Amino acid sequence: MGVPSSVTYAVIGAGIHGLSTAWHLAMELEAKGKGGGKDIVVLDKSGPGAGASGIACGCVRNLYMTEPLHAILRHSVDVWMSDPVRLGFQQVGYVSAGEANQLADYEKLHASQNRVGYPSDLYSGQDAKKFLKGIWPDFNVDGIDVALHEKPSGYAGTRQAVAGLAQKCADHGVRVLSGVEVTGYDMQGGRVSKLRTNQGEIKVDVVVLGLGAWTGKHWDMLSLPATLDLKYRDGGTVKDKDMWTYWRLLEGEIYIDQPYRTADDRDPPVLHVELMTTPVRENGDPQGRELSDHLYVYWKNGAERMEKPGVQGGTIPIKIGPKATLDPYGWANDAYQAEPEFADYLTGAMAQLMPRFKGHRKNFKERRNGGIGAFTPDNVPIFDWVKPNVYMIADSNHGFKMTGVGKLVAKLLAGQNRVAELEPFAFSRFAEGRTFGASNSHCPWV
Ligand SMILES: Cc1cc2nc3c(=O)[nH]c(=O)nc-3n(C[C@H](O)[C@H](O)[C@H](O)COP(=O)(O)OP(=O)(O)OC[C@H]3O[C@@H](n4cnc5c(N)ncnc54)[C@H](O)[C@@H]3O)c2cc1C
Repeated sequence: MGVPSSVTYAVIGAGIHGLSTAWHLAMELEAKGKGGGKDIVVLDKSGPGAGASGIACGCVRNLYMTEPLHAILRHSVDVWMSDPVRLGFQQVGYVSAGEANQLADYEKLHASQNRVGYPSDLYSGQDAKKFLKGIWPDFNVDGIDVALHEKPSGYAGTRQAVAGLAQKCADHGVRVLSGVEVTGYDMQGGRVSKLRTNQGEIKVDVVVLGLGAWTGKHWDMLSLPATLDLKYRDGGTVKDKDMWTYWRLLEGEIYIDQPYRTADDRDPPVLHVELMTTPVRENGDPQGRELSDHLYVYWKNGAERMEKPGVQGGTIPIKIGPKATLDPYGWANDAYQAEPEFADYLTGAMAQLMPRFKGHRKNFKERRNGGIGAFTPDNVPIFDWVKPNVYMIADSNHGFKMTGVGKLVAKLLAGQNRVAELEPFAFSRFAEGRTFGASNSHCPWV
């Protein structure tokens, strides 16, 4: 299929956000009698799932100290649950545990989650230990003082989710075109009038950027600023912060000899543990070599990624800086593969928390992994118009789980004046003193 010479809505990038936006926009236009999928085209230089959406771990959770994200996740779970089979979603829940130094943060985020209708239970002290042991009887709960159980959360198979969203687009008549690379933007009166592509030009009314790690490249192509000043609520300012900072992810899989199940023989919730003052030791042995002075790990059943039983997990990403090599992407890029030390760390942390994983370093699945993401100046997503007719979804690498963003953005694109849930993520927050602050975590995702 060639590219159309003109279209009302052009979505660039067939990842989670581009596909979810196109699907929901088609439904919004149909419902309002304003058109439908025929007015929308999704362009991808490779194809659906060629970016982070195709290689994500697939965790769907709401553990954010940035409270406005809680409502975004509630919409996202509504989308996942609208067709969990087609989207590959397993609603097993999500359990997060920490030390006493995070208790106050957990209390705040638990209250906020429940305020927006995202039910979670909070346990502290002995109750937290008892709760964790009830699910995983061999859980080493030393040092753990708080646990949160998000019931609507879970995980999804990434290829299944991307295929499901692409099918939803097709069902509504949206054209999803692979092998079409946007190479430039023609401007007229400050608006994008045409997209230049490797397959010809496309006249457009509205453009949506769903470009994941490639967002910064198009930011430059649209002549937007490379650095900016950040103003915080307390009056503090940071000058000349890089607009985009790249991080590389550390994730992998471990084969297991015994099925990974809960005490009552279910698929366990996704587990996330951050112990900010507890070191990780090799193979989880108290006398083992120290691998790190703090522990941060998450894992879940390996599901889609494993050809035999196993779990899939990861840890804090590693900062690259304001420049990164975007292509080839993901597993294909030699520069950004996880080092062997990551396997030591992941298996050590898991064994330290659950003796069932002792001696599992040899079970680490040796394969190409990795993948990078573009983070915003405050590590929180930006959802906003960046030109009068260009809407940007830049999720700061949080976003496989955030299928609800496309649903909310579609309302704006179809003519609704305001969508309150998106407003805290406006680009203007940096200039207006609403930059999000640092959270009490070693990880830029919490
Ligand atoms: C290894 C890894 C694990 C992760 N795990 C999780 C997780 O467990 N849970 C979670 O919520 N998030 C996770 N993330 C983050 C999440 O995957 C991303 O935030 C999300 O998938 C980004 O989606 P997107 O639609 O913005 O971009 P992408 O999925 O990256 O899609 C962008 C698309 O744009 C296309 N494109 C680029 N340039 C052009 C161009 N010039 N013209 C046309 N098309 C173009 C690309 O081919 C690509 O398909 C993970 C990320 C990685 C890398």
